[in-house]
Amino acid sequence: MTLPDSPSRHLATSSSLTHALSFDIEDWFHIVEVKAVESPELWPQLHASSSLVERYTDLILEICARHHTHATFFILGWVAERHPDMVRRIVEAGHEIGTHSYWHRKVYELSPEQFRDDMHRSIEVIEQASQSKVYGFRAPSFSITEGAEWAFDVLAELGLLYDASLFPARRGHGGYACPAGIHHHVSPQGRKIPELPMSIAPVGIGPAKKRMCYSGGGYMRLLPYHFIEQGLNSEAAAGRPTVVYLHPRDFAPDCPKVRMPPHRFFKCYVGTSTTAGKLDRLIAEHRFDTCRTVLESAIGPLRPLVKEHAA
Ligand SMILES: [Zn+2]
Repeated sequence: MTLPDSPSRHLATSSSLTHALSFDIEDWFHIVEVKAVESPELWPQLHASSSLVERYTDLILEICARHHTHATFFILGWVAERHPDMVRRIVEAGHEIGTHSYWHRKVYELSPEQFRDDMHRSIEVIEQASQSKVYGFRAPSFSITEGAEWAFDVLAELGLLYDASLFPARRGHGGYACPAGIHHHVSPQGRKIPELPMSIAPVGIGPAKKRMCYSGGGYMRLLPYHFIEQGLNSEAAAGRPTVVYLHPRDFAPDCPKVRMPPHRFFKCYVGTSTTAGKLDRLIAEHRFDTCRTVLESAIGPLRPLVKEHAA
């Protein structure tokens, strides 16, 4: 069946949109729910012996600079405290910085008070290192899930202007049934929070086609380039920019390997040698900018988040 031709029907293509490029800046041992590296007490020693965060963040900065492209770096407070020079290099290169929390704990496992303390510390450390304001948040493992919506009010109270933590599909440590693409999430206290959720699209061939994440982390390492583009084009046809998210360890074939269940081992370490090439090509062939820029071009300037019915 062919669709009737109409002059008003202009499907957007990927090249007519600006997509959001983002990186969650944490070290290789900040992977969640892996016993061997789970305890923060182990981190100083692992950091001293095998940290890769700075080396691969520099590679990311190099790729972005090659294409004159800006991105958002959601930095873990724990990392910012130990690598203030790296944080400064990110800002000096013209990128946006956001927070990825301090301790990398899943939001839905915390109380609102614990989350507030963690976030407050992370914002302080990142702003101190960068000498610039933090406006955006991405939760560790996209862990704002049903029941943890109070987190949106905490973000607003801490002065943040947007969130990029919702993952509108099922996943191991998160998932949230929200609209696809940029929208406002109404918090329990009635604030309208600008939300940039992760991109999900039908990807694959024939009956194997399924709605999935195609533009970040293990998904992006695992998928061939043409499937990533398929997702980009499919979302663009609906007028939605794609959100790309990667970690420094996604670029690290020399990432230390730790013991974990086979399916997780595969997902954590597959395709690391392909990431730099995929990202390089993706940025060369499509237009990307920071999360804040992409949000503002869709919904206008970001403003402090007030309660809708405040006295
Ligand atoms: Zn993370």
